[in-house]
Amino acid sequence: MIVGIDDTDSKKGMCTTYLCAVLVDELKGYGDVSTPRLVRLNPCIPFKTRGNGAVSFEINVTQGKEETVKEVVKAIVSELSEVQEEETNPGVVFIDDIALRAVKGGGSDEMNMHRLKNFYETAVRDVLEIEHAYEIISELQFDHFGLKKKRGVIGALAAASFLLVQKREPAYYDFTYELIAYRRKERWGTSRVIEEASVWNADEATYPVTWDTVDLANKKLVLAPHSPCPVLFGIRGDRVDALYKAYQLIRAEPTEREMLFVTNQGTDSHLITREEAKGTVHDHHSYILDGVVESNPRTIEGGHVVVALSLSQNAEEHIECMAYEPTKSFRDIIRQLRIGDEVTVYGSFKNRTINLEKIELWKLNVEALRNPKCDKCGKRMESAGRSQGYRCKRCKTYCSEKEVQIVNRGIKEGLYEVPPVARRHISKPLIRMCKQEGIGNIHPSR
Ligand code: ATP
Repeated sequence: MIVGIDDTDSKKGMCTTYLCAVLVDELKGYGDVSTPRLVRLNPCIPFKTRGNGAVSFEINVTQGKEETVKEVVKAIVSELSEVQEEETNPGVVFIDDIALRAVKGGGSDEMNMHRLKNFYETAVRDVLEIEHAYEIISELQFDHFGLKKKRGVIGALAAASFLLVQKREPAYYDFTYELIAYRRKERWGTSRVIEEASVWNADEATYPVTWDTVDLANKKLVLAPHSPCPVLFGIRGDRVDALYKAYQLIRAEPTEREMLFVTNQGTDSHLITREEAKGTVHDHHSYILDGVVESNPRTIEGGHVVVALSLSQNAEEHIECMAYEPTKSFRDIIRQLRIGDEVTVYGSFKNRTINLEKIELWKLNVEALRNPKCDKCGKRMESAGRSQGYRCKRCKTYCSEKEVQIVNRGIKEGLYEVPPVARRHISKPLIRMCKQEGIGNIHPSR
């Protein structure tokens, strides 16, 4: 049986991954439980609490215990969810073995799998209505459970679908791991005790197989949340052995439990490619877009840096790109852009603005036009009037064209990213791109 769960936490407490960890440990008595999945869904969803995470796991239920397992899940979700908070609307989806066989059996196999795959991918990149989840749940005869508005069934079905696709084809989606350590209950809401030096040590011993544990440039630890939730810290990375190695090196307060998750974090799964976008953009979606810089960058109130872009695939589309203040030194890259630079931007779109996560500088505009110099006196000529060339009043010399000067740009072409302190869970760190795709000309921020 596959179990998907979402929307159990609030800004004031709880964490859906913790609830999942409790369940995984609790349910071991009823059959083998898989490594749970943690999926990050569309980061632009307005109702998210933090990182729009949802979870799922599979349990090989001992025969005759299916209903008991469902009851345990319902009881723990009901007990631990922050239902007193208005924005918490828990949802659970069960894909039991009969439903699973139906999904995988007969001629409709491919179609059903396709629907679920599509549901997960839409949940990561698009905005879904709850009716869409109910339609699939009812047609594929999945069992479900929810509290209040039950909006969590969207994320629950998406997380269960992700697991189902991975089960059939483990490498179908790019994936990473996170090892999360949870605090003892009596410490929830108090400040976290983590020995800083040990974290720097752990990072040094395991980077770049682990990443986003620290932010070197900003001298900050980024492995621990700042909310009153049960998470002590999480170590993210590409290999399980490296995660445990880092974990063993970190000295911190005693934990209640640890749980390893397979995740879609650090994969850029939320980004709609330039081919898919076809030059049109909509709010609450995230994109990879090619364009040409059409204004000089400005620093606005709050320290955010903004620059205008015309999209290559649709010259009618003019958007703004924003490097927000928390992106720190990434803003220096944006500040050095010039009109005419050819770039690719990565990020979420809202109110005609892309919130920059990465930028690739393809072709820097190194040409500057200046009034020509007089051959005789060497001084810059003046304009002789609109479209009438340039002249030197004193020497009576004339030139029809401006002079092209090559300017020395302070930046290099290549891919840049926001630093770990400002990175979204789902964004792929450039260090992963270097390793996976062997792309050069990458400037990882660390
Ligand atoms: P976490 O704190 O665990 O990182 P989150 O708490 O930020 O995640 P939730 O509290 O789970 O987010 O709230 C997100 C809500 O939005 C859930 O009810 C989920 O079902 C719903 N949701 C997720 N993705 C989509 C989507 N693409 N379209 C519509 N609703 C979505």
